[in-house]
Amino acid sequence: RRALGSLGKSRAKFISAEESTGITFDDFAGQEYIKRELQEIVRILKNDEEFQDKGIYCPKGVLLHGPPGTGKTLLAKAIAGEAGLPFFAANGTDFVEMFVGVAASRVKDLFASARSFTPSIIFIDEIDAIGSKRGGPDIGGGGAEREQGLLQILTEMDGFKVATSQVLVIGATNRLDILDPALLRKGRFDKIIRVGLPSKDGRYAILKVHARNKFFRSEEEKETLLQEIAELTEDFTGAELQNILNEAGILTARKDLDYIGQEELLEALKRQKGTFETGQEDSTAMPEELKLRLAYREAAVAVLACYFPDPYRPFTETDIKSINSQPNMRYTEISGKVFSRKSDFVNAIVRACAPRVIEEEMFGVDNLCWISAKATLEASRRAEFLILQTGMTAYGKAYYRNQSDLVPNLAAKLEALRDEYMRYAVDKCSSVLREYHSAVESITDILLDKGEIKAEEIWDIYKRAPRIPQPAVNVVDEYGALVYAGRWGIHGITLPG
Ligand code: ADP
Repeated sequence: RRALGSLGKSRAKFISAEESTGITFDDFAGQEYIKRELQEIVRILKNDEEFQDKGIYCPKGVLLHGPPGTGKTLLAKAIAGEAGLPFFAANGTDFVEMFVGVAASRVKDLFASARSFTPSIIFIDEIDAIGSKRGGPDIGGGGAEREQGLLQILTEMDGFKVATSQVLVIGATNRLDILDPALLRKGRFDKIIRVGLPSKDGRYAILKVHARNKFFRSEEEKETLLQEIAELTEDFTGAELQNILNEAGILTARKDLDYIGQEELLEALKRQKGTFETGQEDSTAMPEELKLRLAYREAAVAVLACYFPDPYRPFTETDIKSINSQPNMRYTEISGKVFSRKSDFVNAIVRACAPRVIEEEMFGVDNLCWISAKATLEASRRAEFLILQTGMTAYGKAYYRNQSDLVPNLAAKLEALRDEYMRYAVDKCSSVLREYHSAVESITDILLDKGEIKAEEIWDIYKRAPRIPQPAVNVVDEYGALVYAGRWGIHGITLPG
């Protein structure tokens, strides 16, 4: 084996090579099933010949997809670390340069480097930068160059026989929808793993991993505090959770304290949440317009929470005392939920549309601002989850069986289906807000006046509010969710072409 240091200088610029990553599956927490799947791959990588005798081969490519900061890079490094193999990493965006031919030759270099150290792991982060659909809109230019790079990846992956491959290619992307379907065919990235946002338990487990090298007063206190933070961090990524603990550590040191306490953690959480710092606690320092926007946002979220109540997650109170990119409404989580219906998923999408819809209603579509951005993102993530992960929509089963071969242009169709759900959700949400317009106004008034409002008062206003009847939105089934059968026939969606 050659030493990794012998990679040529020109290669070293865009390839980062590690003889051993030192990362293991213990470093990744939450979503245990992902680890189980990858552990299997590691076992095959380690006992290559033994498995080959049984006719079991390692996949050539594994594609990890999910939002940034959810630990995709970490997982790739853990696979290398667990299997004890060298790790060659590059970023898709580094392949695309203005000079013709660079992309293809860099791809060649990357594979050549990895091959001279087989068995080894290649990791291509942001693979969508080079592997997006051919013939699509040429965002950012460099289309021909990208295409050359993509073709080179396909050639390289087809070039080695599975039985003697010895190089596992791991790709990461947060845009599965724009990837060229050729990449997802058999013998290329034929293992696709979704790395999603962690659940509450997952968040607790991640916090625990990153608290390993931090000081707490006692083991019990640490547990209680981390549980509390896990409760308050819905929709946070692993990277954000790690930041909270690091920030809390810094605050603790700055205050000259020996142990991280509740105050430091909550302060760090607030910093991580707030994308806008007024520098002052009290809302009188906020621009009037922003206050008004916040009040409407919270009022809309409250009305939707009354309209589609979640018995396992009742809301408790909200305020306009701090400026966050996501709603301030607070909830308690009640355990005991056994299952979710499709309508629960759809209603959650509708609820998440409230900040965006109210802002557009009150301030106009050209006048939106960032305070509705995070909720809007959440709405479309939820729609994607429903379509891709639950098997409750027309494409669910097809997706599970095979990523792209069964249905031509699957990604485009999934995107269209997501847009359908989003359109329904936005329409339904604005219909609810119009019906309860007077409740929205009353809650807004109280928020502007007092700065906060509790659940009882919200319910009281909601129940008494005069309602303005609205026409029905689309076709609604008995649970209040969309009936696709009604539109596309009982066999589900008829795929054009
Ligand atoms: P991605 O590649 O998905 O953008 P990264 O792997 O770069 O995310 O994550 C950044 C950092 O966040 C990781 O190095 C790790 O410290 C932390 N992190 C993210 N997800 C997790 C997780 N599930 N468990 C533990 N740490 C995590």
